[in-house]
Amino acid sequence: MVRVGIDVGGTGIQVGVLDEQMNILAEGSIPTSTAIPFAEQITLITECVLSTVASAGFDADQIESVGVGIPGIANKETGEVVKCPNMGWNHVPFRSEFKKHLNVPIFIDNDANVAALAESVAGVSAGTSSSVFITIGTGIGSGIIINGKIWNGFHGIGGELGHVIFDLNGVPCSCGNHGCLERYCSATAVIRMAREAIAQHPDTLMLKMVNNDILKIEARTIIDAARASDPLAMEVFARFIDDLAQAIASVVNFLDPEVIVLGGGVSKAGSFLLDPLSRKYKKYVLYNDQPMPKVKLAVLGAKAGIIGAAMLS
Ligand SMILES: [Zn+2]
Repeated sequence: MVRVGIDVGGTGIQVGVLDEQMNILAEGSIPTSTAIPFAEQITLITECVLSTVASAGFDADQIESVGVGIPGIANKETGEVVKCPNMGWNHVPFRSEFKKHLNVPIFIDNDANVAALAESVAGVSAGTSSSVFITIGTGIGSGIIINGKIWNGFHGIGGELGHVIFDLNGVPCSCGNHGCLERYCSATAVIRMAREAIAQHPDTLMLKMVNNDILKIEARTIIDAARASDPLAMEVFARFIDDLAQAIASVVNFLDPEVIVLGGGVSKAGSFLLDPLSRKYKKYVLYNDQPMPKVKLAVLGAKAGIIGAAMLS
């Protein structure tokens, strides 16, 4: 028997076929296409599942379960995707539509929750009973694991660390509020901070690295320039670390998990991010003379999506 994990992303849908030990046996993918009706989207996804299962050498009747990670809100009881802007889904009956093609147990959950589960079972937080996974990319995603299980919140809308308000009069957020944490702690945020700083002080390595095209600045540009001791990049990166340290301290003050796991594009900065962050966050924790969670880097990378989805039950 095999388990199938599906990771619904902004640009593509990844499908993984895994054995009982959560080893990936085969992978497939299709591009995200929002221009076609929902039922056709599901037809394409199920075709991709069946061909990937076949390429692993199994038949459809050997599928034990299918799990799906959704960048949005999914109701795991009813199988409905409540909201998934990337796919243009609004209250769509995902499970019942999927079952028309493939009548197997199907589980859905939010993608950050799924990645949190994957890391807590087969990744860096394996063996812990509680963890908070924070993915730092275009935005901030987060997943909470308590007693080995995903905590979705009573109404299924919890775990949105990125939209915890950080500065009431701060930067406007796509959600309509001002000063959400992801406006300060995401890749998008550090890029904005760098552009603002460069406008004031254009004599920086960051600008040289992108041939003076400020729009080409990425999080990696800032990190690389900071590593090369460019004063302005170091200043921007230090501010970013400080904001992220406060966010992590808030998680600790509120939940005190066993471990905090950082994933997403920015986490590729490795120890350059992790070391100052681990040192700094402690000063913002209320009971900072007590033992505190370790902050660790995710190890499953982009595969966390399909692995965690396949683990859903
Ligand atoms: Zn927001």
